[in-house]
Amino acid sequence: MTIDKLHQVVVYGLGAMGRPMARNLHKQGLLIGVKNRTQGKAQAMQKELGLTPFEDEAELFAAADTILTCVSADNDLKDIIQHIIPLLKPGSVVIDCSTVSPKTAQSVSDDLAANGIAFLDAPVSGGVEGAKKGSLSIMVGGDREHYKRAEDIFSAIGSQITHMGKVGQGQATKAVNQVMVAGVAQAVCSALAMAEQCKLDVKKVVEVLSAGAAGNWFLENRGQTMIKNEFNVGFKLDLLLKDLHICQSTLDSMDAALPLVQNSIEDYRRLSEAGYGDEDISALIRLKRCLLNQEDLTQESENDG
Ligand code: NAP
Repeated sequence: MTIDKLHQVVVYGLGAMGRPMARNLHKQGLLIGVKNRTQGKAQAMQKELGLTPFEDEAELFAAADTILTCVSADNDLKDIIQHIIPLLKPGSVVIDCSTVSPKTAQSVSDDLAANGIAFLDAPVSGGVEGAKKGSLSIMVGGDREHYKRAEDIFSAIGSQITHMGKVGQGQATKAVNQVMVAGVAQAVCSALAMAEQCKLDVKKVVEVLSAGAAGNWFLENRGQTMIKNEFNVGFKLDLLLKDLHICQSTLDSMDAALPLVQNSIEDYRRLSEAGYGDEDISALIRLKRCLLNQEDLTQESENDG
């Protein structure tokens, strides 16, 4: 049986992740248009990629067989889905690459299904670097037949693509991923703050430990930048804080709790309130230094170059 592959994509949400995803879809000839709340970003990308302009958004969405959304948070996704439902053609598919809760994925899927539109939750991991390289890990929930139809789209933006099960199970996998990300950041930031306190050459510590049993992606890619107090790269800690609340609500729904999640929420909330919300998650080392030096966060920022 031949599969009716999806190949006319509109990307909705041209943030740090959506823009490179749109470029990679364009390279594979799969992108027909882009849409963004702040219209200037959509116009700039349309010009950059030489996309054929549409008369209006009704014409744009009517021409698409797939809408790939990548927006900030749960309510943003819900709002745009309500807005586009009347514009989508029955039989089309919405693929959501935002990180939202499994519950939101299910509710959006139900709203779309009532209008004859399919839904796949497809959160990603690999950061802006992965989005640019087209090497994201993609964890997909939803009907397997639609997953198969979307294979070319997923291959254009990712290199590890896994069907996890029914709607919501992609997002549940992403929540598990974020618990791990938070745990690794806790371990590496605490340990490197200790290395500083021991007056070790921390650059050498990162080099030697990266090659041993404690080696990991975060240490290798963020170790050298965090000891130089450079936090302007990578994954904004406000986004991890949002994701950790999703982890917490997922655990709550099972009457469960993980201290790692609760402690990480508390740490990132403090950093965010102190004005570091746009910094990379490795800025957690600021708090760990304060803990070891018995300083407060205001004194820590005096180390900035
Ligand atoms: P971003 O750079 O802050 O971009 C957010 C996008 O969402 C923008 O296009 C923004 O439009 C749009 N948006 C926000 N609220 C909206 C609303 N109410 N209605 C319509 N559009 C709205 O964020 P990002 O880094 O691309 O992240 C997008 C998603 O991917 C998030 O769920 C994030 O958790 C997830 N993610 C991010 C990373 C990462 O490393 N950054 C990695 C994995 C997953 P405007 O341009 O108008 O503001």
